Amino acid sequence: MVYRGPYKIAVEEKDRPAVEHPNDAIVRVERAAICGSDLHLYHGMMPDTRVGTTFGHEFIGVVDEVGPSVEHLQPGDRVMVPFNVFCGTCYFCAKGLYSNCHNVNPNATAVGGIYGYSHTAGGYDGGQAEYVRVPFADVGPTLIPEWMSDDDALMCTDALPTGYFGAQLGDIGLGDVVVVFGAGPVGLFAARSAWLMGAGRVIVVDQVEERLAMAEQFAFAETVHFKQVKDVVVHLKKITDHLGADVVIDAVGAEADGNRWQHFTSTKLKLQGGSPIALNWAIDAVRKGGTVSVVGAYGPVFSAVKFGDAVNKGLTLRMNQCPVKRQWPRLFEHIRNGHLTPSDIITHRIPLEHVAEGYHLFSSKLDGCIKPVLVPNA
Ligand SMILES: [Zn+2]
Ligand SMILES: [Zn+2]
Repeated sequence: MVYRGPYKIAVEEKDRPAVEHPNDAIVRVERAAICGSDLHLYHGMMPDTRVGTTFGHEFIGVVDEVGPSVEHLQPGDRVMVPFNVFCGTCYFCAKGLYSNCHNVNPNATAVGGIYGYSHTAGGYDGGQAEYVRVPFADVGPTLIPEWMSDDDALMCTDALPTGYFGAQLGDIGLGDVVVVFGAGPVGLFAARSAWLMGAGRVIVVDQVEERLAMAEQFAFAETVHFKQVKDVVVHLKKITDHLGADVVIDAVGAEADGNRWQHFTSTKLKLQGGSPIALNWAIDAVRKGGTVSVVGAYGPVFSAVKFGDAVNKGLTLRMNQCPVKRQWPRLFEHIRNGHLTPSDIITHRIPLEHVAEGYHLFSSKLDGCIKPVLVPNA
């Protein structure tokens, strides 16, 4: 797929990517997911999203070619690739902060490299394609375990580890009340993961019926439809002994359905476009001394965050892009023993040549679309 401007996605023939560095691999893509955060790109909200680039940071496939320095992969290997591009050896990678790698993004110091996520995130072409170039091929990609399904592996490239990471950042204690804003894939995985960390109650907030239904069935959560209550913060306080939640996870930025929430923000609440409504709800809904965890893509500069309230309530605010590969060993165990079943949230399979319809479907929340997967040469 090729980006042709906001709301314009085209299928075009590009040259197969070539090995540009001795550490590169070329991967033939077998499955690629469209992520909520891709909608930021699609809507033209992410700075420096250049026409002609290919999106896609969630993909798995088969190694087609390796550069001369690659030691651990060979053609024919089936690999899952974390959405982070990272070197594995810099100051930050050495600390496990793979999403903050210092060597992979000449365009920004705040964010590391992300496949198919604008030049702000390094300008790497992504995996919503037949082939993709994978730098530092000995560092990021990992062989898909024999026992793992392709769909589960695909969910491990971003959505599942990001949701799990969101719950981890919440530092959930035994019996804690956890509120998750956003019932997209990341929110669903965060809610499901919260149980594994000892949560006593998990409450998911959204406004899309089928997503709330999924939060109940898949994540065993209580749900709140925020348009069906007068004031979502007051409602959450009421159902939490008027104290507020111990932990609130903001999975809206991550799910990145910017349009829906920002439309709501700017037109219904008369706040400025781009105000972080979910983040402010999180600050309001958490109890004093509680923790707010923020995961995912907050692209533009945000203002009007209730920072004073966060200070006065003594909150802990934790956030980052997920360092995907760091999560894998534990997630593999949870998948293998059935505690996590990530492929359950996949709702649509779309041939790559119909990618434009896929984006439209997902962006407009049509047909109960929660997680669409693209299949090349289907
Ligand atoms: Zn993603
Ligand atoms: Zn690094």
